[in-house]
Amino acid sequence: MITTTDLRKVYRSRGREVTALDGVDLHVREGEVYGVVGQSGAGKSTLIRCVNLLERPTSGTVTVDGRDLTELAGRGPRAGKELRRARSRIGMVFQHFNLLSARTVQANVELPLEILGLTGKERERKALELLDLVGLADKARSYPGQLSGGQKQRVGIARALAGDPKVLLSDEATSALDPDTTRSILGLLRDLNRQLGLTVLLITHEMDVVKAVCDSAALMKGGHIVESGTVAELLATPGSELAHQLFPVGGEASTPDSTVVDVTFHGEAATQPVISQLARTYNVDISILGAAMDTVGGKQIGRMRIQLPGRFEENVVPIGFLRERGLQVDVAGVADEAAVLLKESVR
Ligand code: ADP
Ligand code: MG
Repeated sequence: MITTTDLRKVYRSRGREVTALDGVDLHVREGEVYGVVGQSGAGKSTLIRCVNLLERPTSGTVTVDGRDLTELAGRGPRAGKELRRARSRIGMVFQHFNLLSARTVQANVELPLEILGLTGKERERKALELLDLVGLADKARSYPGQLSGGQKQRVGIARALAGDPKVLLSDEATSALDPDTTRSILGLLRDLNRQLGLTVLLITHEMDVVKAVCDSAALMKGGHIVESGTVAELLATPGSELAHQLFPVGGEASTPDSTVVDVTFHGEAATQPVISQLARTYNVDISILGAAMDTVGGKQIGRMRIQLPGRFEENVVPIGFLRERGLQVDVAGVADEAAVLLKESVR
């Protein structure tokens, strides 16, 4: 539904150049909720602003719902109307709501409809319908200043839906909100995704948001996407940084002569008593240093950090046992290179 190929954006200001996007290939499937995470300055906002052409990419292409927006934008004024129409099918929700304080809630939602040229009656009908959809039917005549943060964001979402978009973009829509309100806004985005078949691309720096609503996610660093995939795929990727951030398992080794491994359980394996089987089969004492369990997309997923007595070389067989049972095992506490070499040597 959204594809960018080799997207680059270089900002030039006062003789300085900042490369905000350095060849981004993003692929968001129709009907999914896709989360982009990354630290401040990673290029997340630039990416989302390039997707709806609020920002003109320096090079590369943006295709939304089969339309190459970069090509339309490059065709000049004659394609302006077509580009505007294509962009009206992309809704955008902002962190600071961007509501007009002198307009009522209803008039804020009507704004994009005025631009689309709907008559007063049509605008009113549509705005009230959208306010009802976001649970604010009774606030149509209020002003933004009379609303809570969560209600303001609901107005922002209603306004974003005015053009009957197929795609909703959200840049840190919940980061100005408290945890309870965040949850209710995320629930609303999830409902809209399901009810309207809306594809949602959201930016966040909170891993909880990804866990709560995203089907897929990407991690951005320095203008690049360094990891991406469905949440289940990411969790199944050895050494995935996103997986580690989604399911952090703390815990330090209690003795120096031991091996610490992170075990990820999903699907079938999550319900098997593998740890006790391991202890019994090899007669080893296993210490659990940390664990996290959660449900992602209706499936149980867990991570556990365990400690086995003895160095890595002495634990090759028990680790192999876990891997044979379909668990993903990442060896911690062994310098990466050494672990890779050792892993290679045991294959
Ligand atoms: P994020 O949303 O991940 O925090 P941004 O996309 O806002 O990242 O910014 C990426 C980089 O581009 C940063 O180094 C930022 O300073 C720079 N940048 C963003 N917008 C502009 C701008 N309008 N002019 C110049 N540099 C910008
Ligand atoms: Mg940003």
